[in-house]
Amino acid sequence: MAWRDVMCGELRAHDADRRVTVAGWTDTRRDHGGLVFVDLRDHTGKLQLVINPERSPAAAQIAHEIRNEFVLQATGEVTARAPEAINPELPTGQVEVQVDELRIVSRSTPLPFQLDEENVDETLRLRYRWLDMRTERMQRNLRLNHTAISAIRNVMDERGFVDVWTPSMTRGTPEGARDFLLPVRLQPGKFFALAQSPQLFKQLCMVGGIDRYYQIATCWRDEDLRADRQFEFRQLDLEMAFVEREDVLDVMEACVVGAFEAAGAEPPQRPFPHLSYADAMLRYGSDKPDLRFEMEIQEATEVTRDSEFGVFKNAACVRYLVVPRTFSRSEQTRLEEIAKEWGAKGLANLTQISKFLSERELAAFGVPEGSTALFVADEEPVVAHVLGLLRVHLARELDLIDAGRDVFHWILDFPLFEHSEEFGGWTFMHHPFTATVAGEEAQIEADPANVHGQHYDLIWNGWELGSGSIRIHEAEVQQAVFRVMGMNEDEQRDKFGFLLDALQMGPPPHGGFAMGIDRFIALLAREPDIRQVTAFPKIASGADPLTGAPTAYPDAALGELGIRLTDPQPE
Ligand code: ASP
Repeated sequence: MAWRDVMCGELRAHDADRRVTVAGWTDTRRDHGGLVFVDLRDHTGKLQLVINPERSPAAAQIAHEIRNEFVLQATGEVTARAPEAINPELPTGQVEVQVDELRIVSRSTPLPFQLDEENVDETLRLRYRWLDMRTERMQRNLRLNHTAISAIRNVMDERGFVDVWTPSMTRGTPEGARDFLLPVRLQPGKFFALAQSPQLFKQLCMVGGIDRYYQIATCWRDEDLRADRQFEFRQLDLEMAFVEREDVLDVMEACVVGAFEAAGAEPPQRPFPHLSYADAMLRYGSDKPDLRFEMEIQEATEVTRDSEFGVFKNAACVRYLVVPRTFSRSEQTRLEEIAKEWGAKGLANLTQISKFLSERELAAFGVPEGSTALFVADEEPVVAHVLGLLRVHLARELDLIDAGRDVFHWILDFPLFEHSEEFGGWTFMHHPFTATVAGEEAQIEADPANVHGQHYDLIWNGWELGSGSIRIHEAEVQQAVFRVMGMNEDEQRDKFGFLLDALQMGPPPHGGFAMGIDRFIALLAREPDIRQVTAFPKIASGADPLTGAPTAYPDAALGELGIRLTDPQPE
């Protein structure tokens, strides 16, 4: 006999009089002294079983033993419920199954939490993830994951992309994070890095004539874990030969829209709006602005150049936010404290400083009645950073964000390099393989501060979904970038000799993109973090509460790898 012939969520009024066998988990059991009611559950829904001792004394006997989450199998007759017993909340609420045969297939120990309990501690949920997965939330999220990825694979298929597997164990890949290292028993003292992305392999696929590559690639980055970050994550990774930027953006937009449609959500309008990096930093103080609300940063540097107010006069940059609210003195003090934590020297409220300002300045600011202008004066990056954070902070606090809106947009025209405090020189903004805007190649070494890259980021409601670029396909240009980053010829050959060789053997022009799938699904599922859409995520400390990994290894095992710990093993 089959384990089941219908799913729990399938039966409707017209199924009355059918004989069925069902199997699933005990969602609830209600013992009415004689009659026992069980809500049997699987991922399709719930079904009410009625165990009546007059109908089946044997089943009634067994029913007393049932507890939540026991797995049951029942055979019986589908009957229409009496009108007063109909449950309009359940799709199967018009029927029930009168049980003739009942079997406890497997039992459960007492549960660490109930499936319908709210605010269960997350570490506990992850420790018993197999239980947590049975909740409607996790079922919905994991299935949405699958639906969206299938839709993306369909788009890739339709457009002739080829899924090519690339190695996880490789050399360090410069994506800006630390590598996870893998010791190698056969070569003690040497390490593979786990791929931070398949970046160079996908470029080599282009040199190899694959033309359109993609992969739902797992990547590893040793970074602090956050709402939108895990050590390992998946990205839709793609690369195309003989394309312009617009071709890549078009494919990515099709993937987003395809996933929305498959998920039954209203897809965003295409094409997604474009915003230059410079504009984004000026108007929103961020390279991933949330455009669901306005509250643009205003420029005041010119107007305050000769201000009587010394703080403005002496600052390289003065900008402000007009907030549609007034603040009490204590609220203002609190905002100022927050701004200082973000790096500002202060946060000036126009009403408090207006006596120092000229008519011309006041007229230029034009703040409507009931609003407040908040100023930051400092070096330009500090001003942008603080006002950008303040903009989002206040929008959340004042409830200015329309949570029902989805705004996708592209950030384009990034600088190729940024100054690195850490290295005391230039480092890449995206990664070192991004091409310059056409015609700016000669500037790479002559004027690194002002070269633009053909780099683009995709933003959804203030989350960076992913990045891509048109790549450098000429070895000399690639070497110029390496030189700006302070790499001499030997170092270039050592780390990237294979790439430089490939770029000298007929590389086609190419470009690509990578989108964080887990981030994308979390937003699609309206979840606050990627752990809620990941089957077995890690917690902030970097541990896996389920398996207890990471674990210590005995000295003998480490010895085989040529490793000796400097600190004693933790207990
Ligand atoms: N390799 C980049 C990343 O993983 C994406 C790309 O440039 O295609 O972020």
